[in-house]
Amino acid sequence: MPVPETIRSNLCTVRERIAAAEARFNRASGSVTLLAVSKTQSPSAIIAAAENRQRHFGENYLQEALEKIEALKGYPLTWHYIGAIQSNKTRPIAEHFDWVHGVSSLKVARRLSEQRTASLPDLNVCIQLNISCEASKSGATPDELLPLATAIAKLPRLRLRGLMAIPQRAETFTAQRAIFHQVQQAQQQLIEARIPLDTLSLGMSADLEAAIAAGSTMVRVGTAIFGARKTK
Ligand SMILES: *Cc1c(COP(=O)(O)O)cnc(C)c1O
Repeated sequence: MPVPETIRSNLCTVRERIAAAEARFNRASGSVTLLAVSKTQSPSAIIAAAENRQRHFGENYLQEALEKIEALKGYPLTWHYIGAIQSNKTRPIAEHFDWVHGVSSLKVARRLSEQRTASLPDLNVCIQLNISCEASKSGATPDELLPLATAIAKLPRLRLRGLMAIPQRAETFTAQRAIFHQVQQAQQQLIEARIPLDTLSLGMSADLEAAIAAGSTMVRVGTAIFGARKTK
């Protein structure tokens, strides 16, 4: 695992990048939340980040995530599921996470709604948008988005917060920003259709500035905090 001192200084650098991008692109200071993507990282790496005021953590692999959530119960952390969702694995997600970013079908949303533990607050949900309709990517297509969002917004025990996307890599900052901007426009259309949304989950280690320029409110950053991941 990366040593705690490295995690501390990496976190500091990422926070400076976020603050600089907020200032440069006329975003309110503090309007972008840092989600630390801790997939494949050990509980002690997460503790090192938590001891430096990091609260939001994102996980992709369900079994691994459930073990860490259990091991770190004593810490005041907010857990985000950002991996692919198999519809037969929704129950542990509904029971153990605070946020789910990759919802792209009504079937999965209904299951999360039915399975959400009644004693817990509503589960925060982002719909994954496949903005470039890439066959290899999951996510709702732009055509599917409005009916899907309208239906999910009505489900009990879920709180639809916004959109998430993992667009293809672009060559330049300008091109990357333009792709992110399309997601922001899709979000704006939903808001105009009176679906209240406050979250745009966009941007990772390599492209968080372009995402913030396009209106991201939550950047999902792994490598820039914890270093390179061991391949699974
Ligand atoms: C792994 C992952 C990230 C973090 O990517 P980095 O390039 O390491 O910052 C962000 N979002 C999702 C959905 C991921 O799977």
